[in-house]
Amino acid sequence: MDFSALNKSSAKSFNDQKATIKKLMQGRAVTCPICKQNIRLFLPQQSANPGARCDKGCTDIALDFA
Ligand SMILES: [Zn+2]
Repeated sequence: MDFSALNKSSAKSFNDQKATIKKLMQGRAVTCPICKQNIRLFLPQQSANPGARCDKGCTDIALDFA
C-alpha cells in the first residue's frame, strides 16, 4: 500500500504526533481525532512502513524520529 499521499504532517502538529507515538509505545490507547478509531502502532520489526495509523488512514504518522 502507498500511504505517501495521505495526510502530510505539518510542522505544527509534529509535537502532537510525537506525543501520540510515545503514548502508544507506553501501551496507552490513543484514538484518532477524526474517525475516533484506535490508532495502531506499527514497529519497524512488524512493518516495512512503520508508524502510527488508524484503520481509515486519516491519522498516518511516520515513525521517523525514534
Ligand atoms: Zn482516523
